[in-house]
Amino acid sequence: MAHISGDDRSQLLLLPDAVDDYVGPDNPVRFIDAFVDGLDLAEAGFERVQPKSTGRPGYAPADLLKLYIYGYLNRIRSSRRLEAETHRNLEVIWLLRRLQPDFKTIADFRRDNRGAFREVFRDFVRLCRELDLYGRELVAVDGTRIKAVNNPDRNFTRPRLEQQLKQADERLERYLKQMDAADTADAGGSRAVTDLQRKIEAVRRRRATLNARREQLARSGRRQLSLTDPDARLSMTHKGAVVGYNVQVAVDSKHNLIAEQQVHTNVTDIGLLAQTAVAARDNLAAERIDAVADRGYYKTGDVEACEAAGVTPYVPKPIRSPSINKGLFAKSEFQYDGTNDTYACPGGHRLAPAYFHDLPGGKRIQYANRGACRSCPLRSRCTTDSYRCISRYTNEIVMDRMAERLVARPAILDRRRELAEHPFGTIKHWMGHGTFLTRRLDNVRGEFSLTALAYNMRRAINLVGVTALISGATA
Ligand code: SF4
Repeated sequence: MAHISGDDRSQLLLLPDAVDDYVGPDNPVRFIDAFVDGLDLAEAGFERVQPKSTGRPGYAPADLLKLYIYGYLNRIRSSRRLEAETHRNLEVIWLLRRLQPDFKTIADFRRDNRGAFREVFRDFVRLCRELDLYGRELVAVDGTRIKAVNNPDRNFTRPRLEQQLKQADERLERYLKQMDAADTADAGGSRAVTDLQRKIEAVRRRRATLNARREQLARSGRRQLSLTDPDARLSMTHKGAVVGYNVQVAVDSKHNLIAEQQVHTNVTDIGLLAQTAVAARDNLAAERIDAVADRGYYKTGDVEACEAAGVTPYVPKPIRSPSINKGLFAKSEFQYDGTNDTYACPGGHRLAPAYFHDLPGGKRIQYANRGACRSCPLRSRCTTDSYRCISRYTNEIVMDRMAERLVARPAILDRRRELAEHPFGTIKHWMGHGTFLTRRLDNVRGEFSLTALAYNMRRAINLVGVTALISGATA
């Protein structure tokens, strides 16, 4: 039996008359077209929404935005590849009505409108909200590190530079000793001596470069120096060191849609809970919302800010007590009594406020009972000093409240893991091992807004279909 064969290339065919016939009614490009046409691009902050009255006419931002949304939705992120698609891809030809901007125009558009993509992301959240795709009750806040266009070898911290300088010094000293030995042996002019001279010159050049980088780092006032992308930061993850950006998302619990996304240069997540969760609550237009996050977000000021802004946080307490590391009683073994503002210690004594400190994070009180500790048989298990102090911020009541909430609702922590893993796993897969294409924080923020928009769009299409989305966008 013969194989299935295609048509003869020279045969005349009766193909459909219009490009429109090649794009089905449930093709996502039809939604991209309707969605972008319904946006107020000037309000969102796009440049050149009104064409200039003089000079060569430019492309409409709506067309280039459609191209980018299509690209991110289909894992085509580079401007050169997008240009190629405008020539050969029927969906893109339909979407852009045969416009064929060159890659530079495409790349410039992403750079010039990087801040406006965030508004487009929010517009899509609004549409999904209207279609009742968000539960608006619980969000999981989580962060991941996404690699920057900066090789780890081109990232320097002061300790790393000091270590490399030390190694260079040791090497230089070794070569100089070898040189002395060669001189004593009267081997001047030999090949070994020439090699040594070359190595000494190379080490000296390296030292000069490292010293220049050390000065550059000191001048910048930063803790790290990244040579390719100056905003990229080295941070430690469970998979090792990553030079990149800290990407934060708040994921809604109903359908795993992203309610808020942000990109930061912070090397840890601490201090990022309130700004992510409160922005998610705003995007979802919810009066109150619950937010769950992992231990890395545990910070009194942040939890207090969440509560004040209508977000009820659930963050477990980290196990990072120096007392536990020393094998001593943990702070959790001291019971706070709010009625008389004292702590009950494991020895059955009361620790009262003894020392007061005004710190940037709030007022800190240290509770102690020096008399009881002096004669306490448990002292060797409690402190290495003559008495034990327990510190408490005056606003720590918010952490006590949060601990009570977590005891009443322990399953919420498992929910957090399920929610956050879905978008990060999908996005990193789409991004080809999770690497940004652009450099500098503002550009990367624009790039991630498009990525999160594409993630939400793909998910919404799977949930309700293109026709329902078009109806929602054009209503
Ligand atoms: S050492 Fe002091 S704080 Fe510790 S158990 Fe004894 S009395 Fe209590």
